[in-house]
Amino acid sequence: MDIFKYMTEHGHEQLIFRHDQQSGLKAIISIHDSSPGVALGGVRYKAYASEEEAIIDALRLSEAMTYKFAGAGLNHGGAKAVIIKHEGIRSRKEVFKSFGRLVESLQGRFGTGEDVGTNPEDMAVIATETKHVFGIPEALGGEGDPSPITALGVYQGIRAGLEEAFGSDRVAGKVIAIQGCGNVGRHLARYLHEQGGRLVVSDLLEEQAQQTAKEFNATVVNPEQIYEVACDVFAPCALGAILNDRTIPRLKCRIVGGGANNQLSDAVDGRMLHERGILYLPDFIINAGGVIFLTHGLRGRSRAESLEETKNIYHTLKNLIEISKREKIATSEAALMLARRRLAQDKNSFSHQQA
Ligand code: NAD
Repeated sequence: MDIFKYMTEHGHEQLIFRHDQQSGLKAIISIHDSSPGVALGGVRYKAYASEEEAIIDALRLSEAMTYKFAGAGLNHGGAKAVIIKHEGIRSRKEVFKSFGRLVESLQGRFGTGEDVGTNPEDMAVIATETKHVFGIPEALGGEGDPSPITALGVYQGIRAGLEEAFGSDRVAGKVIAIQGCGNVGRHLARYLHEQGGRLVVSDLLEEQAQQTAKEFNATVVNPEQIYEVACDVFAPCALGAILNDRTIPRLKCRIVGGGANNQLSDAVDGRMLHERGILYLPDFIINAGGVIFLTHGLRGRSRAESLEETKNIYHTLKNLIEISKREKIATSEAALMLARRRLAQDKNSFSHQQA
């Protein structure tokens, strides 16, 4: 992989590698763009097929974080960390402590929080080494798990999608297929079930899917079948790159909107959805509730205010859909356009302040 070429093409600033012999930590932090403000992004704990796959994950996710902050109007840059899960790790706690020391060594240039494979307890361990971490358990004085708020934002986004596609935001009677019954997927299932949505769910972990089905009266399908479920909304809440030239032709939905990061395998996949008449609710707009919530303290906002900001994702998406129709572009293109425009405005006003 030509790392510097990728970083040049995508505007990345810094890629940090850390290996700690004692704990077995193998961590990568990617800082995409710190010019809007302190770079923030969650830490993912996951086994990867190769080191290259882990690097690409960090690079792609950090870029998406920049757009997520810009799209939500928050003055932060995008970053992301991955910790490679491997057999040589004996103590999860020691790995996260070691990662905390790495974060601390960056002296506030990077702040982190929960992501796939990590939880508020891991954040509490990181917090023993650095203050640049969000989402430690409420009982320990932190913000707590952002996932319910992320799911709230996704739910609001789905309402905007339903209104556009069906002329009403009513969830009752609509069929929603949820891929991934983890932190976000389960909470999303709860919101939709409460509003009378009919749910179909899948998870690689059969037990996880069964548990969600039991709680919210859903039907379980296997992870491959979920793409072909005839539904109103397909909600990806697992991992990224699941919308691609192999899966998009199989979709039988009117709307795609879910919590997962980097759902499109490639930018052209957003166009493919558009051309198939599927309304795509761009991931970094619809799933911004978590960062809106986690940064509320930093921004001098109360918890309650951040919930209201999250509900506003409904209006952000309505506006985005209007732009996409007016400009005759895919919603994925409209979202990137909006985020890049805001970043350019910020950079302009910053250089004026400097002058
Ligand atoms: P999680 O690890 O709690 O849940 C993910 C679930 O997806 C797991 O149960 C896993 O078994 C399942 N899964 C993985 N691959 C699958 C597949 N191919 N088919 C079906 N199920 C599969 O993670 P989470 O916190 O719920 O996050 C889910 C997604 O949302 C991730 O992409 C994450 O980056 C994104 N996200 C999360 C938050 C948050 O607040 N937690 C915020 C923004 C974005």
